[in-house]
Amino acid sequence: MSKGKERYVYLGIGGNLGDRVSTLSNSLTAIQERIGTIERHSSLYETPPWGYTQQPEFLNAAVVLKTNLPALEILGIAKELERAAGRATNHPRWHERPLDIDILIVEGEVINSEELTVPHIYMAARAFVLVPLAEIAPEIVHQTIGLRIETLRDLCPPSDRSNVKKYLTPDW
Ligand code: ADP
Ligand code: MG
Repeated sequence: MSKGKERYVYLGIGGNLGDRVSTLSNSLTAIQERIGTIERHSSLYETPPWGYTQQPEFLNAAVVLKTNLPALEILGIAKELERAAGRATNHPRWHERPLDIDILIVEGEVINSEELTVPHIYMAARAFVLVPLAEIAPEIVHQTIGLRIETLRDLCPPSDRSNVKKYLTPDW
């Protein structure tokens, strides 16, 4: 696929099965190798499951990288990395998985296709996405809502925000 212009891409990564810290930490290495140069990543945050609640707690983080890969190509690589981390391909949405990689925001692009919605369709309602993303990119603007990430975070119900707890470990 032809390469486009280099721009910032913001990813959300998470998982709730297996050794969560090493899976996420390995995913950073793979993202750097396969997708682009990581500029920053957030702290890890632990969050109760969302959607389907009978499953272990998640660890989540946000990553900003620079890449010229088209968004669909990034999605394809993200799915490969999820599979390589042992995620079943036929699992229902929102159920437990070792690794989930979501494309949250792509600088200068709004995408609404069958496979890909960017900005990510649920991000504005998810404290576990907004809290880590606001740590690394508080001032970027959600292109379709027109508000900054820190504002969207502050608009989340306090009970949701307080469920997103910083997870401190020397391995991150
Ligand atoms: P969720 O991340 O909402 O828990 P899944 O990871 O199971 O759910 O859903 C993955 C599907 O969502 C993928 O097959 C992908 O095609 C689609 N999708 C649409 N927009 C995005 C996006 N911005 N980032 C990642 N996946 C997306
Ligand atoms: Mg996903």
